Amino acid sequence: MTRETTCQVLVVGGGPGGYVAAIRAAQLGLGVILVEAGELGGTCLNRGCIPSKALLNASARFQAMRDCADAPVMGLRCTAPGVDMAELADWKSHVVGRLRGGVGALLAANKVRVVAGWATFRNAKICDVSTAQGQETIHAGNVILAAGSIPSGLPGAALDGNVLSSTEALDLEELPASLLVVGAGYIGLELATVFTRLGSQVSIVEAGDRILPGFAPALSKPVADWFERHGVTIALSSRVERVHGTAAGCEVEVRNPDGALTRTAASKVLVAIGRAPNTAGWGLENMGVDMTGAFIKVDAQCRTSMRGVWAVGDLVGEPMLAHKAMAQGEMVAEIIAGMRRKFESHAIPAVCFTEPEIVSVGRAAADAGHLGFELVSSRFPFAANGRSLSGNSDVGFIEVVARKTDNVVVGIHAVGQHIGELAGEFSLAVEMEARLEDIAATIHAHPTLGEGFFEASLQGLGRSLHLG
Ligand code: FAD
Ligand code: NAD
Repeated sequence: MTRETTCQVLVVGGGPGGYVAAIRAAQLGLGVILVEAGELGGTCLNRGCIPSKALLNASARFQAMRDCADAPVMGLRCTAPGVDMAELADWKSHVVGRLRGGVGALLAANKVRVVAGWATFRNAKICDVSTAQGQETIHAGNVILAAGSIPSGLPGAALDGNVLSSTEALDLEELPASLLVVGAGYIGLELATVFTRLGSQVSIVEAGDRILPGFAPALSKPVADWFERHGVTIALSSRVERVHGTAAGCEVEVRNPDGALTRTAASKVLVAIGRAPNTAGWGLENMGVDMTGAFIKVDAQCRTSMRGVWAVGDLVGEPMLAHKAMAQGEMVAEIIAGMRRKFESHAIPAVCFTEPEIVSVGRAAADAGHLGFELVSSRFPFAANGRSLSGNSDVGFIEVVARKTDNVVVGIHAVGQHIGELAGEFSLAVEMEARLEDIAATIHAHPTLGEGFFEASLQGLGRSLHLG
């Protein structure tokens, strides 16, 4: 028998966009149902941000051990470090499980009713869910779509045991002897970093003429240098055309920039060429919402073209980042509850957790022509930072971009070891429209990477203390 229910807010998808929307709507007194077909936490928690960062952290420790085994580093030596991939995978799953339990507990504490099952919309406000207990039909006052995204496939390279998307790569319980990564974007490079550190022979094929095309060349260069130093080959302006299974793994056909086709072998191939919004198979076509390209079209309040239907996160376009999804989810819940909100995207930080890490928020110096006002930029190198050098790294810099007329900080771009941790301070400065004088008047703890931000700001004001 079909169960019929009603709610004020129906959220479809329990990823960062959906679960945050559900919690906030419930906090504001609305009756909320959240439908999730897979696991709470969505892509980010179960097969994205968290497992990839767990493996990045573990692999960084292993690399440090291996370095000390090759030759003493900072006077430290170690012998025969090893990695147990099955135990590593278990540990990573434990971290994910613990956080997933936390999301479930938060939803329960806020009295969000979670329905486990696949949602299919009959029309904009009526949704059928197949659950283990049978069919449930939900009639909703408001609908928040947060169905996320899926990996884009590569024609000629169907996923199988040896051709992997990030989902399978994050679950490997055996270290591949060699890994060919297709795509030098966020996923390709973060996972190339993991497997290089763990000891696989990694090669990368990228269609563009440089790695991380979304970041400025000065930011991606230290990352390219790290890969080169660690024996990773990167084929630029090249495309993988076909992957054949062999007894030993895969044979890969690569179209080189000169048009020639070369064949190369790898135990595993990781396809990381972007992600597509998850818009098929759940009745979106019955809801009457407009699209923009492959994404659901929304306005600055995440309203779709259908009254009372909202969409957030990866479904609505770039940047496909968890913190953007959460910010949109929170905002939509507040708008439904009657608050006045609008989505501001100018201070969304982007962090790439490679070696070294990259952070970018706001405008680049090159945007001046497009903005119509003059910008000045100033840089502080980590080679002059005590925290960085005492952590055995002299690579990278922090660049601050400010409006020339009033010194308002409009962008901050940095590359360096552990620099991702400063993303919050950088976003705060851009969001609050801090001036260089505000950063310079803030006492930054010594010795920290944040002093580089302080010094870059001093330099912008023409009064550096620690730069000749
Ligand atoms: P998702 O997290 O994709 O959640 C959508 C949910 O909806 C899923 O749980 C799905 O099961 C459910 N669903 C879909 N359709 C239905 C249906 N019909 N019925 C019921 N349930 C349904 N972002 C960062 O900011 N930082 C990072 O470090 C980072 N690392 C990443 C690493 C990897 C390997 C990947 C793949 C992604 C990473 N991302 C990262 C991106 C981040 O995961 C996404 O931007 C984020 O998860 C998007 O959130 P969302 O709520 O829009 O969708
Ligand atoms: P991406 O868009 O970051 O990179 C894809 C890369 O693949 C690009 O450099 C592109 O030029 C290349 N490419 C495309 N087609 C190709 C082909 N046929 N052959 C060779 N190269 C090809 O996408 P992604 O790395 O798959 O990540 C997807 C999304 O997930 C990202 O856009 C990001 O929003 C999110 N993500 C974020 C983080 C983070 O915040 N640290 C980490 C991982 C993923």
